[in-house]
Amino acid sequence: MNSKYLVINGGSSSLKFSLYEMPEEKVLISGLFERIGIDNSSYTIKLNGEKIKKEVTLNNHEEAVKILTEELLNYKIVNSLDEIKGVGHRVVHGGDKFKESTLINDEVISTIRNLFHLAPLHNPANLMGIEAFKEFIPDAKEVAIFDTGFPASMPMENYTYAIPYEWTEKYGARKYGFHGISHEYVTEFMKKELNKENVNLITCHLGNGSSMFSIKDSKAFDTSLGFSTNSGLIMGTRSGDVDTLMVQYLMKETGLSFDEIINVLNKESGLLGVSGVSSDSRDIEEGMKNGNARCILAQALFVNRIVGYIAKLWIGLDHVDAITFAGGIGENSPVTRKQIIEKLKPLEIELDEEANNVRGKFTLITKESSKIPCYIVPTDEEVMIARDTYNLVK
Ligand code: AMP
Repeated sequence: MNSKYLVINGGSSSLKFSLYEMPEEKVLISGLFERIGIDNSSYTIKLNGEKIKKEVTLNNHEEAVKILTEELLNYKIVNSLDEIKGVGHRVVHGGDKFKESTLINDEVISTIRNLFHLAPLHNPANLMGIEAFKEFIPDAKEVAIFDTGFPASMPMENYTYAIPYEWTEKYGARKYGFHGISHEYVTEFMKKELNKENVNLITCHLGNGSSMFSIKDSKAFDTSLGFSTNSGLIMGTRSGDVDTLMVQYLMKETGLSFDEIINVLNKESGLLGVSGVSSDSRDIEEGMKNGNARCILAQALFVNRIVGYIAKLWIGLDHVDAITFAGGIGENSPVTRKQIIEKLKPLEIELDEEANNVRGKFTLITKESSKIPCYIVPTDEEVMIARDTYNLVK
């Protein structure tokens, strides 16, 4: 019998939702509550290809969830809320406690709370969503799907920093890896596509936040990410890897506090910081066309960092079945993919320019003669959450 499952992605001031009919994986309705707890809050519902936007005061996540349940009934998506059998929540940080998705009970809630210090912006928001649904759809089972879950299979030699080992053990100061739900989706997709149970991949998720993984035997093996979400690749506003001691130097030179410097590295760096124009890759591409030297530099840094990580991640694998591109930039920017793949020529990877000239579609974008095939794989984190929720609840 088919049944309905909600997928929830809660941020500190937003709540994204989709209602799925499972196991068909059919999206019945989706939407987004924005600016929760801030002025000018609103929500948008997507239904039958139509977008409906409503301005409304949203003081907290509970009010958003209350409206959401009312709208599901208003639009007759459900006749009664007990048709919703499960609610799957994306939870950003599972520390080293959760290697897999899990049904939520009091113990899980208290463990997520105990991990607040590792993700102070994200985990509290995720928990607010969990608690609100407990109140408004009490009969639905809730499931947590962790962004750190898929990366949890990384071996110790790939997640340990060369710091005093007691710090790794006692404080959990190690690499975790995020975006796991997206990289797992791509891995599952490629297993089917290549018709192999065990795939070795390099998966690139390039968007406002960017990350890469090497996948060995279909499991996360190494990553560009680290302890925090500001490591590895250059992102829209995040610096990615920088020398830690430069922070101390910049504090002295600029007179800014530690927190202020970290804020700049998170919110005013990356494509935005270098170009001085925008964090959006479409604006960077426009600037490049107009010969803006800083946009050209920002894009070069972005591409070079990715190419460097491809080489690094490749070395850890004995063979690579495919390199994949997902995320807003990975799926939609032929220019960026071309620049990356052309730099891989010494590794005998050959771009198919015509095939690459596409957006948002699963496509092989390298020539048959290429040593390793590269693909665009549009990611779908929501369906991954719906699948795990369905499998644990049914
Ligand atoms: P995401 O965080 O995955 O939603 O990705 C956001 C990024 O994707 C932004 O930098 C957008 O500029 C970029 N993006 C979306 N569409 C395009 C496009 N058509 N061409 C280039 N970049 C795009």
